[in-house]
Formats: sequence, C-alpha cells, structure tokens
Amino acid sequence: MDPLNDIPWMLPRTLFNEDHAAFRETVRRFFAEEVVPHRERFEAQQHVDRDLWLKAGALGMLCPTIPEVYGGSGVDRRYSMILMEEQAYAGDSGCGFALHSDIVANYLLNFGSEAQKQQWLPRMASGEVVAAIAMTEPGTGSDLQNVQTKAVRDGDSYILNGSKIFITNGYLSDLVIVVARTNSEKPGSAALSLFLVDTRLPGFSKGNPLKKVGMKAQDTCELFFNDVRVPADQLLGHEGMGFVMLMQELAWERLMIAIMCTAGAEFAYAETLQYVRDRKVFGKPVASFQNSRFQLAEIKSEIQIGRIFVDRCMQQILEGSLSIDAAAASKYWCSDLLCKVVDACVQLHGGYGYMLDYPIARAWIDMRANRIYGGTNEIMKEIIARML
Ligand SMILES: Cc1cc2nc3c(=O)[nH]c(=O)nc-3n(C[C@H](O)[C@H](O)[C@H](O)COP(=O)(O)OP(=O)(O)OC[C@H]3O[C@@H](n4cnc5c(N)ncnc54)[C@H](O)[C@@H]3O)c2cc1C
Repeated sequence: MDPLNDIPWMLPRTLFNEDHAAFRETVRRFFAEEVVPHRERFEAQQHVDRDLWLKAGALGMLCPTIPEVYGGSGVDRRYSMILMEEQAYAGDSGCGFALHSDIVANYLLNFGSEAQKQQWLPRMASGEVVAAIAMTEPGTGSDLQNVQTKAVRDGDSYILNGSKIFITNGYLSDLVIVVARTNSEKPGSAALSLFLVDTRLPGFSKGNPLKKVGMKAQDTCELFFNDVRVPADQLLGHEGMGFVMLMQELAWERLMIAIMCTAGAEFAYAETLQYVRDRKVFGKPVASFQNSRFQLAEIKSEIQIGRIFVDRCMQQILEGSLSIDAAAASKYWCSDLLCKVVDACVQLHGGYGYMLDYPIARAWIDMRANRIYGGTNEIMKEIIARML
C-alpha cells in the first residue's frame, strides 16, 4: 500500500508541486529496484553496496540542494524531504544518503573554501566520495564540548589523535568531517575545530561495522586516528569555530529526523491497515474488531497531527525561519510517535509482527535509534526548556 496515495489522509499536504511529484517517482523506483530486493544481503554484510552510491549519484539523488556548479542540482530542500520520505516508505534504513547530502555537504557549502568545495562536493554528488561526520567518542556523546580527539598544529599540517564511535557511513567513508580539540588552553567549545579528513591518510583506520540492534544495513563503525597528518588546508572554517559551525544547521538536522520518523509512522500504519484487513481471526478480519479500529483511528489521528507540524516546520525551513525549539520539538515528538505507532502496529500483527519477514518487525527494531541519535530526546527537551 502506498502511504501517500492510497490512504485518504484527513488533511491534504500542500508542500509539493508537479516537479516534486516526478522526482518522487524516480526515487520510489530506485528504492523498489535497487534497494528492496537486496535488503537481506545488505543486512548480512552490514552496509549497502558501494556502487549503490554511484547509481544514486547518477540519478541526482545525492546532494540535490548543492548548487550545480559543485555537481548538485541546486533544488530546494523539499527534494531532500522526498528522498527521506521515500526511503521510509520503502522500509529502508540502510542508505546513509541523507547524512551525506543534507548534513556533511552543507558544512562544506556553508563553511568550506572555494578549493575545498571544488575538491569534495562534485565527487560527493556523483557518489564517488561517501561522506560521514564524526562527533561522538567513546567517552562523550551528548556533551559535545568534552571531545577529546586532538589536532595539534605542526608546520603546514595538524596531527590528529583520538577515536570516534557510532559513525554513520563510517565503514564506506572516503571523507570524514572530524570534530577535534585544537587548543588545550581554551575550555569547552571554544577549542573545537572541524577537519576534512581523507580516510586514505596514513594513521587513519576503521573498525568493523558495529553490531546494532536494528538498522543492520546501515554501516556504523568506530574510527581511529593515530598521528594522522591532516594538511592545514583541510581545516574547515576557522580554528575554534567548530562548535559555532555545528550549531548553525541544527534546526534542519533535527527536522530531518522528524521527517524520517513521520514517514516511517505512515509506512507502519499503511502496512498494518493492509494486514488487519487481510488477516482473519474467529472468521472475521482483524480490522473488524473494535480494538483494532480504535487503535488505527488513534494512530491515524496522531500521525496526521505530527505530519501537519512537520510540514509547517518544513515551510519555515524553506523561509529560513525555523526556530531551534520547534526543531527540537519535532525531533523528540515525532521519534516518540514513531516508536509508539510501530509498537502498536506490531501488536496488531500478532506473532507475525515479531517475524523479520514482515516489514513491521524490521520497523520495530529500526525505529528505536531515532530517540537516541541527532541529540537524544532528553537533550531536545533540555533545549526547549531553556527557551521557556
Ligand atoms: C545508529 C546510530 C548512528 C549514529 N550516527 C552518528 C554519527 O554519524 N556521527 C556521530 O558523531 N554520532 C553518531 N551517533 C551517536 C549519537 O549521536 C549519540 O549516541 C548520542 O548523541 C548520545 O550520546 P551517547 O551515546 O554518548 O549517550 P550519553 O550522552 O552518554 O547519554 C546517556 C543518557 O544520558 C542522558 N543525558 C545526557 N545528558 C543529559 C542531560 N543534560 N540531561 C538529561 N539527560 C541527559 C541521555 O539522554 C541518555 O539517555 C549515532 C548513534 C547511533 C545509535
């Protein structure tokens, strides 16, 4: 069932035009043909195929919002939204395209020198370069100011030492934006800087993909830096400005998670509606029981409420006015909603909901991380509370 077209949602969406619809078709076909049939293999190897990135690049699915002069399509962020939604509607959690295109590429575009943009962005848009961003360390996640990885200036280079953990796209990465401490004198965030690190540099190594509960096809790994000599011209922006740069795009990055979670909830709802109509118990479809109908009525209402909030936030992103607290609210509320919806949907599937052959079971193990990454939901509430 198609969550966008086959379900009569209560309030129609108003964000998209015909060009967006045509792009959505291309993206939908890509996931149906290139991702869904290979899912089990991707999960077994713990990452998607490397050439999937090239195929996505050839279709203009990577870095769509990056200007054409740097290899992108120069389109608005609704195209990114479509990519994230269609990935969720395909039930996929393996492709790390959104992080690559809508987080890493934006740092380069917003803060990179002309030479850095020319060096990296066209190859990111074509899929030749897979990009990641490494903030989290074994000893620090939520408290980013406590990063211990160090970059010490030495002539025309910085010497990088330390390690990172839970890095999405890490295993396949060719480029990693690394958050490191450049000044041991200055406290907390004032000493953080960002580096564009080529993963082929001597002293850079990757761990094996981590064994996660879900999202098994998404490559997530540890990265190690042992006296990695990073050329000084790969410093992004200015020394000590790392934290400020990281803060700049946070509203969009949090809304991205809300977008994926809302689409994920729509997908779970569509799958479950179909299932309870088909499945007969006591000679009647499961859909006919009052409990099923009330559960689905609640789920549909709550998804619709979340959808309107997310689309309104998206409108504000397009206008450049999304507030930090609205973005944090969208991230925590929609990821909580996804978990609640998927759990109820598993229950409505009975035992089949616990079998990985069913998309709802996969959704159940995949969804949980959304409340943790991108800033935990507790940190989101802290941000909202600070602005009360
Ligand atoms: C699948 C996956 C992919 C990821 N991808 C990336 C990536 O690409 N790049 C990257 O850098 N990181 C990535 N991460 C890391 C992720 O961002 C961190 O796990 C997250 O920020 C939490 O940090 P932590 O794990 O150290 O938990 P901690 O910071 O140790 O938190 C533990 C608990 O304490 C709570 N807590 C912490 N501070 C407060 C507070 N002030 N008030 C109340 N409660 C608090 C947290 O909410 C949490 O419940 C990924 C994680 C996962 C699971």
